[in-house]
Amino acid sequence: MNNILITGGAGFIGRHLADHLASRDDTAVTVIDNESLGDRRHLDLEKVRFIHGDLASRDDLEAALEGQDAVVHLAADTRVMDSIENPQRNFDNNVIGTFNLLELSRELGVRRIVAASTGGAILGDVEPPVHEEMAPRPTSPYGASKLMLEGYLSAYSSSFGVSACALRFSNIYGPRSFHKGSVVAHFFKQIIAGDPLVVYGDGSQTRDYLYVGDLVEAIRMAMESDVQGPYQLGSGHPTTLNQLIEVMRTVTGRDFEVEYRDFRPGEVRDTWCQVEKARAAFGYDPSTGLEEGLRATWTWFDRHGA
Ligand code: NAD
Repeated sequence: MNNILITGGAGFIGRHLADHLASRDDTAVTVIDNESLGDRRHLDLEKVRFIHGDLASRDDLEAALEGQDAVVHLAADTRVMDSIENPQRNFDNNVIGTFNLLELSRELGVRRIVAASTGGAILGDVEPPVHEEMAPRPTSPYGASKLMLEGYLSAYSSSFGVSACALRFSNIYGPRSFHKGSVVAHFFKQIIAGDPLVVYGDGSQTRDYLYVGDLVEAIRMAMESDVQGPYQLGSGHPTTLNQLIEVMRTVTGRDFEVEYRDFRPGEVRDTWCQVEKARAAFGYDPSTGLEEGLRATWTWFDRHGA
């Protein structure tokens, strides 16, 4: 039996990962989450052991980590704007939380650690496609906290032999993301409310959208491998905001307005990533097309979001 702990497992990505891993006969899943942004009601508590706890607490962490073979570390304050308004809070939560987790994991002999990082927020406004060889220049305290996470993973690998990798997620979308402020969740909520979609700029800016089902598959493959260091995970393709909106028209069948406003200074114009390193290292192979993924996401939002 593989015992796996997911930190932040009651959040958007964690609830999908917990389902994915718990569906396997050979895997026992534990989730630790302080429910600051997540909610245990999104977990199948018959299949997943849930601990309401915080990474700041050694006792909570010890209870969660005891007997675990591997950890998928997703817990973080993920709100970029909040990290700019209150960098100290973001540091305490993301950096100290990660440090506590690594310290206790090495003490307890956890075999493998896979941690969530980010492409855009670490690398800043650079010419796409982004890849793992680029020099990081975080543009927000949130991005800096993820770079520190990568630094500590690297240090714990080298100094203590901890087997660890950082997965740099692109823009993840999918069902059960109603609490998120990311573009897909935000636009679907606007469409349900009957409000116009607001686009800053002319809509030609690009992003890399990855369906959560493809992501959780990739996290499992990375966990089962022994790869070290950072890996970009995205679709590997740029999508303009206008293309995204057109697919949203198709899958929702709704007639909504789009309001174009001035481009916001400081916002990254174009970003998408190369995924060849992950493909070669652990067989990463995202297969869900944008229309298919947005259709599944909309079906969930339409049913649960009203
Ligand atoms: P989310 O906010 O839905 O989930 C994060 C979870 O962590 C929440 O349930 C929250 O309650 C929990 N948490 C926060 N601080 C905690 C603490 N100190 N102790 C215990 N639990 C704590 O976010 P998500 O979209 O599921 O993101 C998961 C991870 O992926 C994060 O690390 C995020 O930075 C990273 N990521 C996400 C995206 C994306 O597009 N969603 C992109 C890049 C990186």
